[in-house]
Amino acid sequence: MGEEITCPRCENKMVDMQACHMFCPNCGAHLDCSDKGNFW
Ligand SMILES: [Zn+2]
Repeated sequence: MGEEITCPRCENKMVDMQACHMFCPNCGAHLDCSDKGNFW
């Protein structure tokens, strides 16, 4: 808890959409927590 994930693309704070699915509202990147560092 309290862990902040930053976008690998633009370093904006990621928003949790689901438990293992983050979204960056700044650049639109998605990040899957099962494979951190990999985004699309
Ligand atoms: Zn971003």
